[in-house]
Parts: sequence; structure tokens; C-alpha cells
Amino acid sequence: MKQEKAVVVFSGGQDSTTCLFWALKNFKEVEAVTFNYGQRHSKEIEVAKAIADDLGVKHTVLDMSLLNQLAPNALTRADINIEQKEGELPTTFVDGRNLLFLSFAAVLAKQAGARHIVTGVCETDFSGYPDCRDVFVKSLNVTLNLAMDYQFVIHTPLMWINKAETWELADELGALDYVRENTLTCYNGVMSDGCGECPACKLRKRGLDDYLTKKNGGDE
Ligand SMILES: [Zn+2]
Repeated sequence: MKQEKAVVVFSGGQDSTTCLFWALKNFKEVEAVTFNYGQRHSKEIEVAKAIADDLGVKHTVLDMSLLNQLAPNALTRADINIEQKEGELPTTFVDGRNLLFLSFAAVLAKQAGARHIVTGVCETDFSGYPDCRDVFVKSLNVTLNLAMDYQFVIHTPLMWINKAETWELADELGALDYVRENTLTCYNGVMSDGCGECPACKLRKRGLDDYLTKKNGGDE
């Protein structure tokens, strides 16, 4: 893989930034693609741009505003609250979003001469998004290869790890402080450690606390 090129699906958040560092370590050449679908915080796009610039990665922003036209949801509409009722998908869910993102990333990757696509989807902190499951990603990989007559390999370095282990991976890649300080995960658009109140901040903080406790308290 060291001699090859990868495209990272990149939002400027903790997970995809960790994936970007992972790709930079594992591939000779890396590009990033960000989807603009009218996120609540256009800041997300700016943050993604700034990180890609910082890391010297070619960055493409694709307009996916049609997603909001198809499926209004809490990620794009300020008048819909972010919440998850028990046994239901959270209000941030958009049917087929990951399917569309990965498919567009594949078209871009083939044009860029890249076989490898890297995405930060994960089953462990599973919010119930069916198109983030491993079985779906594998199935789409086969479909894309058939659709474009090309040998894509979709990589999901975070698929089976939890948030604490994602911080651990960032640390192993020498990027813990960078990811902590320069990424945006918060649904309220607050950088770094975030607002502390929204579900994304709570998940991120719990993972970081768990990892730092393990690292500092450790059983070495
Ligand atoms: Zn927050």
C-alpha cells in the first residue's frame, strides 16, 4: 500500500482526521474529500479545509446539498432538534448518506488514480446507521468494483474500535494533540473539546477520558 494512493472521506471531525493521519502513514499519496450538504455549521467545511492545508493534502469539497432536499434532518436543519429516542435512529440520520458519500468518493478516487478509499465509519459506537455497518461497506466495495470495473479497496480503520481506542490510534500516529485541538465534532460548532453538552461532545469526551485514564493510570 505504501506505493499507492488513497482518498479519505473527510469531515474535519475526530474520526476522519484520525483516518487522514492513518492514511498518510500507510500510503504514498493521500487526497481528502469533504461533502457539503448544508451542515448546521458551515464551519465544518472550513475546519476540514484548514486541516487538509496544514497536512499538505489535496482537498476537494463536493456539493451534496441535494441530500437536504431529499431528507431534511437535524444535521442540516436548525429547527429539528438532535435527539435519539430509545430504539429509534437519531434525528441526525439520513437514509443512504454513507452509500452516497462512498459512491461519490469512488468516482473521484478513480479519476485521481487512487484505488484506496478510507472512511471513518464504525460499528462499535453504533448509532444504528445501516450503511455504516461492515457488511454494507464490504457489499458496496464489490458493487463499486463491478460498477466501475476497477479494483477499489475500502479501508475502515475505525470499524471495530471504540472512541477511547480511536484516541489511542491517534496517539500511536503521533497526532493525539493535533486531533484534540484542531478538529470539530460538536453539533453546536464548538472546536476542540466542544460544548460539552451535545451527544457528539459527550461521546468524544468519554472516550478521551477513558483513554487518558488507561494511558496515565495504566497497568504497566
Ligand atoms: Zn457539543
